[in-house]
Amino acid sequence: MKEKDFIRAINLCVRCGSCIAQCPTYKATNRETENARGRLKILKSFADRQLAPGGKVNEKIFNCIMCGNCTNRCPLGIDIEEVFYHARSLLKSYDKKMGIYRLATRLAFKNTDLTVKMLKPFQKYINRKMGEKKLIPGNIGFNENQFKKTGVFKPMEKIGRVAVFSGCSVKHVYPELSQSLTKVLNALKYEVVFPRPENCCGAPFRSLGMEDVAKEYAEKNYDTFSKLNLDAIISLCPTCVVYLKQHYPKLIGKKLENVFEVSVFLQDKIKDIKKEIKIRAAYHDPCHQANVLKATMEPRELLKRSGVELLEPKNQTCCGFGGTFSFFFQEMSGKILETATRELKDTGCEAIVTSCPNCLLQLSKSMTDRPIYHIIEVLEEAICEPDGT
Ligand code: SF4
Ligand code: SF4
Repeated sequence: MKEKDFIRAINLCVRCGSCIAQCPTYKATNRETENARGRLKILKSFADRQLAPGGKVNEKIFNCIMCGNCTNRCPLGIDIEEVFYHARSLLKSYDKKMGIYRLATRLAFKNTDLTVKMLKPFQKYINRKMGEKKLIPGNIGFNENQFKKTGVFKPMEKIGRVAVFSGCSVKHVYPELSQSLTKVLNALKYEVVFPRPENCCGAPFRSLGMEDVAKEYAEKNYDTFSKLNLDAIISLCPTCVVYLKQHYPKLIGKKLENVFEVSVFLQDKIKDIKKEIKIRAAYHDPCHQANVLKATMEPRELLKRSGVELLEPKNQTCCGFGGTFSFFFQEMSGKILETATRELKDTGCEAIVTSCPNCLLQLSKSMTDRPIYHIIEVLEEAICEPDGT
C-alpha cells in the first residue's frame, strides 16, 4: 500500500461500527482499542503525530488477528488488513523485543527442513513445554518434508495436471493430508505434482511487518510455480491460497493463475461417492476461507454429498490461531479458542470438520474429546477405494 492510500484509508473511516460485532479480538476483550475502528483511530493519531510509535500503539496494531471479518463488513470498502500490514511495516522498528522474534522467524523459515531436523531431538520437551502453554497440541510431531525433489503422482487415466502448494503446516505437521489429497486427485484422474522448491507463502513475515522478506518469498514461489504447465494450483490451506492469489499481486505485481482452495476446486468434480460417511459433524469456517475467499458453501456441499450430517454452530467464530498471533498474544488467542470450542461443542456433534490445517492445529488444543478432520480426509474416505483407486 502506498503512503497516500494509507492516509486516505485511515481518514475515510466514519466510525460507523459495522466492523465491530464479529471482531474476535474485540469479542475477547470488549475493548474499543481492539477492534478495527479503534485501531484505525490509533493509526490516525499516529499519522497526525499525536501518538508516538512503540509501546501500546504497536501492541494494538500487532494484536489484530488479520481475520478479514472487518474488511468484509466495512460499508466504505476500506481494505483494513492492508492498512494494518502497512502500519506494521512502519511500526516494526519501534519494538526491540519483537526484533529478536523477527530474526528467529526469518531463520526458522529459511530452511524449514533444517529447522525441523534441529528441533526433532527435543520434540518431547518442546511438546511438553509448548503444550503446557497451549501453543501447540501436546501430541503433534514435526516432520521433514516428504518430497526432497519434485514429486509426481500419475493416475491410471489422465484428464489434467495440477500442482499442490502444500504450505508449512501440511508439509511439517500434517503430511498425511498431502497423501489424502493426492489419492483424491488421482482418483479424479489428475496427475499431481509437488514442485520443489516450495517456500513459506510469506504470511508470517507480512504479519510481523517484514514486507521485504514476504516479497522475497513471493518471488521464489512465483518462480517455481509459474514455470509449470498446469490446469490448477491447489492448496489445503486457505491462508496460502489468499497469499498466492491476492497478496502476491500486491507484493510483487505478479499473479499466479488458477489457484484454488481444495473444496472450491473439487466442488464440481466429485460426483461419484463410493462410501457414505455417516457422522454428525460441525463444520468450522476458517476465517480466510469465509471472509476473503468467500467459499463457505463449497465445503458444506461436498460434505453433505459425502453423507455427513452437518450441524451448524449458532455463531461461526475464529479459532484464535492467526499464525504468529497465537504465539505472541496467547491469552487473547486462548479466549477466542475457548469461545470457538464452546460454539462447536454446543452443536452436539460427534466430530469437527474444517478446511484449514492451522484451524485443525488450534482446535486440537482444546477439542480433546472428539476427532477433528480436514475436509480432504473425509473426501478421501468417501471417494477412494482402500487401495487408493
Ligand atoms: S482483522 Fe479481525 S481481529 Fe483484526 S480488526 Fe478486523 S475483525 Fe478484528
Ligand atoms: S465499518 Fe469501516 S467505516 Fe465503519 S467503523 Fe469500521 S472501518 Fe470505520
